[in-house]
Amino acid sequence: MNHQFRASRASPGNLLFPTVIEVNDRHVTRIKPSWITRVEESVSIRQVSSVTITRGMLWADVTIHSSGGTAPLLGSGHTNADAERLKDLIEEYQATLLQTGTADVRMLRACPRCAELVKVAARVCRFCQCELPIELTEEADASEEPGRDWSWR
Ligand SMILES: [Zn+2]
Repeated sequence: MNHQFRASRASPGNLLFPTVIEVNDRHVTRIKPSWITRVEESVSIRQVSSVTITRGMLWADVTIHSSGGTAPLLGSGHTNADAERLKDLIEEYQATLLQTGTADVRMLRACPRCAELVKVAARVCRFCQCELPIELTEEADASEEPGRDWSWR
């Protein structure tokens, strides 16, 4: 799922083509459209080292710093509320990534014993070491190959 944060058209430099910061569970992308081209710069969630907000009189600038040696992504002309949401969202994805190894919540489920998030495909909980029921993944496999039993006969 992509979350888009569009700079306000009333802010400097954003009247015709407002810059868009797009966030999903893998990447933060800065999209700057223009008459001819559309420039996209992207940093993976894994590489984001920090997000800082600089509040001005009217607009907030969001700087997404990266640990990968690439230049930070700068989003200027956001409302203060948008800037806060953008920062929270990135930090939330990062926290999930740190905790579970993936920021994609569709790949996760709660352990029935300790309630920590573990990967859907995991057989053993990495937090409490309990064995996880595997019905969910088994069901998905079975529905994809309905005639598998017959092919052996
Ligand atoms: Zn557990």
